Amino acid sequence: MLARFPETEEQLTYMAPGKEEQLRSPCRLVLIPLPFQGHISPMLQLGSILHSKGFAVTVLHTTFNPPISSDYPEFRFVSAPDNLSDQVVPTDNLLFFISHINVKCRVPFQECLAKMVEQGREEKEEIACVIYDECMHFSVAVAEHVKLPSIVLRTTSASTYISRNAIVRLKAEGVLTSQGSTSQELVPGLYPLRFKDLPVSKIGTPEIFLQFITDINKTRTSSSAVIWNTNDVLELPSLQEIQKQNRVRIFPIGPLHRIAPTSSSSLIKEDRSCITWLDKQIQNSVVYISLGSLASIDKKELAEVAWGLANSNQPFLWVIRPGSVDDLEWNKLLTEGFTEAIGENGCIVKWAPQKEVLAHDAVGGFWTHCGWNSTLESISEGVPMICKPCFGDQRVNARYVSRVWKTGIHLENIYDRGQVEKTIKRLMVDEEGKEMRQRAKYLRERVELSVRDGSSYNSLNELIELIRSF
Ligand code: UDP
Repeated sequence: MLARFPETEEQLTYMAPGKEEQLRSPCRLVLIPLPFQGHISPMLQLGSILHSKGFAVTVLHTTFNPPISSDYPEFRFVSAPDNLSDQVVPTDNLLFFISHINVKCRVPFQECLAKMVEQGREEKEEIACVIYDECMHFSVAVAEHVKLPSIVLRTTSASTYISRNAIVRLKAEGVLTSQGSTSQELVPGLYPLRFKDLPVSKIGTPEIFLQFITDINKTRTSSSAVIWNTNDVLELPSLQEIQKQNRVRIFPIGPLHRIAPTSSSSLIKEDRSCITWLDKQIQNSVVYISLGSLASIDKKELAEVAWGLANSNQPFLWVIRPGSVDDLEWNKLLTEGFTEAIGENGCIVKWAPQKEVLAHDAVGGFWTHCGWNSTLESISEGVPMICKPCFGDQRVNARYVSRVWKTGIHLENIYDRGQVEKTIKRLMVDEEGKEMRQRAKYLRERVELSVRDGSSYNSLNELIELIRSF
């Protein structure tokens, strides 16, 4: 398949001046995403952006949790025979699973890539490089084997990266135990993070966590560049610190979803009926609640959130993803008086078109687990947040939302419906919430500017020049 060239004026405005001619020669990129929703989306968004600049794109993916190829007819999709398809995601031990993926994928991915290189030679179409998710770190060796340069895509915040490295240091100094810490004290040099915000993992053993950090750090020296789904407006100090530590160049070009031509990358079918429900609601009145694709809550938490919402009298749209409550009978838990109490005031779906929901006029607040994509999507729409992180990087993001950008409330204990109700009112009704909304709108403008004509825009053009130079 030949590369498509920018067709609209808008696509052309993102091109570096004078680059149009260079884009005439077809050049293919191979993308290797980690097979989880929060990682597949930014990788496909990056693919769309680079495709709109004239690159042809092949997505080399696992048989487990494959991307929906029909959403991207302009890409080639190649599934590597990795024997992973029957796996169930062990959400309590994700890091072990990621390390398992890295072991299982290396040989089949190498074989597939070698075939692609061969095919490229026959079709007179060169592969410029491999772009891989930081968690698919086996990709470096696979790319080296076929003599291709590689670029890492980091899908977390830059501050998460810095704090992960701090964990290694603090553990070596004996300041932090393997279990992490519940201390409210600030971590020296990591303002505004407290020890309890460090992304010490409850999703793997301490040994696996340290190995994970070592593995993803190795890629900063063995690859040609690092792409970040963040930008200077949000994280300049962390990005500067990272560039100091890295020999290779970093390219903060996010938020990717704001640049990518719109296309869904949902692995779960979106229930669009919630948009019709939102259309009937008053501007800024709805609380949107979602915990992303992996986090879960127990039935006690579910009940407290449900009744806190009902008692707040605020309309709400709640995503309860299958598997996100540890009790399969969760809907029975919500029937005892709850349905009557909320009436038309609430809408519950299994999966929503989140970006569209956040962009809807009726949505005035986002109760989020603070996955990095959700955080960026909320910031990009100027929606203030109630942050209820569950694990890992979500705690770092929640702290940045509440303390650095000041566009949300960090909810640290929700086993109490009274507190849930109060927090919702603080965000949706009180003066404090109005101020957060104003700051959120201002932050949105600045982020949008960086994408249209600022630091992200410039970084993207520099990245394209680098890829062209390979
Ligand atoms: N998402 C969605 N519909 C939903 C819930 C989530 O489309 O009902 C998307 C959301 O827009 C985001 C992704 O799923 O892009 C979740 O990624 P995030 O990094 O926020 O969290 P993770 O799932 O990795 O924990």
